[in-house]
Amino acid sequence: MSIVHRPRRMRKNNEFRQLVKENGLTLSDLVQPIFIEEDAIERTPIKEMPGIYRIPESLLCEEIESLYELGIRYVMPFGVSHNKDGLGSDTLSSDGLLARMIRTIKKCKSDMLVIPDICFCEYTTHGHCGVVAEGQVDNDKTVENLVKQSLVAAQAGADMLAPSSMMDGLVGAIRHALDKSGYTEVAILAHAVKFSSAFMAHFVPQLTVSLKAIV
Ligand SMILES: [Zn+2]
Repeated sequence: MSIVHRPRRMRKNNEFRQLVKENGLTLSDLVQPIFIEEDAIERTPIKEMPGIYRIPESLLCEEIESLYELGIRYVMPFGVSHNKDGLGSDTLSSDGLLARMIRTIKKCKSDMLVIPDICFCEYTTHGHCGVVAEGQVDNDKTVENLVKQSLVAAQAGADMLAPSSMMDGLVGAIRHALDKSGYTEVAILAHAVKFSSAFMAHFVPQLTVSLKAIV
């Protein structure tokens, strides 16, 4: 006679499940993306992400304070630029939106970890993540610019960088440049993989980005 196992003993109630579960999800596992729009006056709802708004740059500190009140300690700022050009040069300036966002957050709450998105698509008129040549994104020229952008972010006070463009050689080049410039303590959150999932298309409401790998 065969024995049929019905192993539900360890999950029959909350107490058992808390005891034996392998994984837990807390606020420390989550990063809050925030979308900061320069020269904006009021919050604008992002209709693809119910409950998420583009926040005017002038209200950034207020936003950070309310996230802090909720216990959130990690934010990923994305710039919504009104100063785009073909290169995305605004983001290479120490007075550009990227650097200003980082400085404002750190000044507002110094123990809020700032993990800016590192990419050009928010700052280029064509919307590509990097340098476009003959209809193609040029990998190596894009990496060069992303390295410059990373140094601007590190200088502004970023704790960790989140390069999202998936260029080959990107993470190694940024790590090398950070170390050479004395930013050995600035970490990199590498988007090791992107899936066609709700996490990446373009973030789930209420909002969490999974940490893929930390270098
Ligand atoms: Zn991008």
